[in-house]
Amino acid sequence: MVDWPALITATDTIPSRRRRAYTAGPYRASNLIGRLCNILARRAEAARLWKRGYAAFCPHMNSALMDGLISDEGFIEGDLSWLQCADVLVLSEGWRESEGAVREEAFARQLGLEVVYARDIELIPFMLQPEYEPWHVTRQEHWRTSPVDLVVIHHEGEASYADTSAATINLYHTQAKGYAGIGYHVWIRKSGLLEVGRPLWAVGAHAKNHNHRSWGVCLDGNFDLRPPEPVQLEVLQTVLRYLDLLSPTWRLAGHRELPGMQTSCPGKLFPIDWLRNQMTSQLGREVS
Ligand SMILES: [Zn+2]
Repeated sequence: MVDWPALITATDTIPSRRRRAYTAGPYRASNLIGRLCNILARRAEAARLWKRGYAAFCPHMNSALMDGLISDEGFIEGDLSWLQCADVLVLSEGWRESEGAVREEAFARQLGLEVVYARDIELIPFMLQPEYEPWHVTRQEHWRTSPVDLVVIHHEGEASYADTSAATINLYHTQAKGYAGIGYHVWIRKSGLLEVGRPLWAVGAHAKNHNHRSWGVCLDGNFDLRPPEPVQLEVLQTVLRYLDLLSPTWRLAGHRELPGMQTSCPGKLFPIDWLRNQMTSQLGREVS
């Protein structure tokens, strides 16, 4: 088999590669409306995957309404051929009822692909592997010794419209600032693309005197000049819902709200109170 990932990462013209997610679930139904509903349901899952940073492949869309063109076995064979290019198989509700999806699941396991359920898409925030050398925590001083009860929100602060990657911040933090690696735990690009920062179990470098008890989430942009992109705020809420599973008692802080901080971060246009209200209603508890 051709080793596509290696070929692609060796090419300078494609700076980053999204993980390829393949959606699987029921297609067939007794009538056209039923088939259309299944196609649109898979399409909606593919859309969520695109928004979460994946390159989604939706076989239901690919051969939509081509029924009878070739045999069902031919389509299944074709779908399994595409599945070999995927990194992740995403199983929809009712997949066990679909012969194609059952075979895709078995084949994905045989190939050693990651298999996830569509209903968990929202809970998988760190789907992208870092494009840069992962941050290796070799020094014990970076290990957490106390629980996390704070999530600190930052903006990047750069005035330009350029799209900055976690890899760039990693370089800046290591080379210009002398940190052991990127200081934030989560990086959200202007496109809403979520990127991995420092491991959650390691102390970050983003809020002096508060690093030992917090996770740092940074959004690209300067929110003194213009507000965050709506998709960034949407992804941020997913991240917070996920972090809530790990530490159910955290509270939220804009960087500047912490005592002794001389900064406007995350910017006067960042809607921190709106975010608190959103999380309070989503989590069913007061998020202060
Ligand atoms: Zn900050």
